[in-house]
Amino acid sequence: MLMLCSARDSSRVVSAPESVLRGLAPDGGLFVPVRIPRIGIEGLLDADYCTIARKVFSAFLPGYSPEAIERSILGAYDGKFACPEITPVVPAGDRYVLELFRGPTAAFKDIALSALPRLMSEARANDTDGRGILVVTATSGDTGSAALNGFRDVPGTGIIVFYPEYGISEVQRLQMTAAQGANISVCAVRGNFDDAQRGVKQAFTRIGDGMRLSSANSINYGRLVPQIVYYYAAYLSLVRLGAVRPGEKVNFSVPTGNFGDILAGWYAKESGLPVGRLLCASNANDVLTAMIRDGRYDRMRKFRTTLSPSMDILVSSNFERLLFHLTDGDSVCVSSLMRSLAEQGSYTMPAEAFGRLRESFLGVSVGDGETKDTIRSVFRGTGYLLDPHTAVAWRAADEVREENGAPWVVLATASPYKFAGTVLDALGEPVPGDGRRQLEALRTLTGKEIPAPLSAALERPVRFRDSVDRDGIEAAIRKAGELL
Ligand SMILES: *Cc1c(COP(=O)(O)O)cnc(C)c1O
Repeated sequence: MLMLCSARDSSRVVSAPESVLRGLAPDGGLFVPVRIPRIGIEGLLDADYCTIARKVFSAFLPGYSPEAIERSILGAYDGKFACPEITPVVPAGDRYVLELFRGPTAAFKDIALSALPRLMSEARANDTDGRGILVVTATSGDTGSAALNGFRDVPGTGIIVFYPEYGISEVQRLQMTAAQGANISVCAVRGNFDDAQRGVKQAFTRIGDGMRLSSANSINYGRLVPQIVYYYAAYLSLVRLGAVRPGEKVNFSVPTGNFGDILAGWYAKESGLPVGRLLCASNANDVLTAMIRDGRYDRMRKFRTTLSPSMDILVSSNFERLLFHLTDGDSVCVSSLMRSLAEQGSYTMPAEAFGRLRESFLGVSVGDGETKDTIRSVFRGTGYLLDPHTAVAWRAADEVREENGAPWVVLATASPYKFAGTVLDALGEPVPGDGRRQLEALRTLTGKEIPAPLSAALERPVRFRDSVDRDGIEAAIRKAGELL
């Protein structure tokens, strides 16, 4: 059976359910499959999303029974998304947009965070520690509402989300404070995101083994696997649209932050999906662009706040997993590179691994000015409305068009309505102030429907009004634990 191990210690193997429960290996490494399973497109040409998901989950999540996989997939996707395709492909201009934001909170993170809680719950059902799991998350935006929705009423789990009082949008706040579910709590932290995150980390350490805590952030292997599915689904849609014949290659442009989304694309490619190039599209935080150009990862640079905030990141955690695979599972090497990153702030990839990286990946960085130009020109030219993250990926693909003649798919990671202020500004019709007015203004200007989950969030009554200082986080976690 396929097993997983820590990217920093291949002698320590675990099953997939164990990795999902643990999140991170005891040595601080991320869990990786020891080898990448084979899937391919044979027999999938007419498959719907859940059928593809069954195939991908069975291959990449050994140790889960077929029944557990079936329950997880149906619980995550059946009737929960705005369209039956789950992740539709829409032709726009000379390329295709893969819409990943049709889920229950209108965020790309819904796809993974709808499945992860169910994978955790199934894994817990088989282990000897009978306690429920409390998921504790500090969020600066989209992850909070997607995680609340994903864990909502999942047996054996509870969740508490801390958000900073300053630095999130009104729509994002309402999506969390008016969220539904009996096993959820939401609490503001008086301070910024950093205060919230540091407070949560300290509370984690103090509580120790006293409670069974976990996190919903993107290093969990159970969050990665559901993302492999939509690369297959997109490819098969292109076949049905007549854009490629089965076996011909397709390129993907991916707006990248923590490297989870694009890594899932690489797993799809290695498992037999005909993928040409994976374009790692970054904003002004261009750590990965430099890495793909020079083979050197250097986080010692200025952190920039941009119009695509979910990609503002200097350490892309999931890159560690790719290092493991590109060095043929040399966990001693990965461990020393990660030590160098922590201690010196940089490392250089071994030459052979770097050569392999360049066979699959391209990297382009796009500034805020180009992002806004792209939103405007694509809307005028094709009628398609991009959010700022998707606009980065669209623009990046412009820079490498001639590459190999294969069609391009741009991954759309947010609804333009989640960033209505920026989008209005880019279209030359800025509307100051509050979220509700901006949503209405964007609808009037573009004629596009506001996603139902966003308008619903604005209508629901606020349930959670608590706010704490950093010191109050631990008590809030203990109280949330009583709901388990
Ligand atoms: C999280 C996020 C990303 C980045 O995805 P990674 O898997 O972290 O690379 C891009 N766009 C949006 C809108 C996101 O929420």
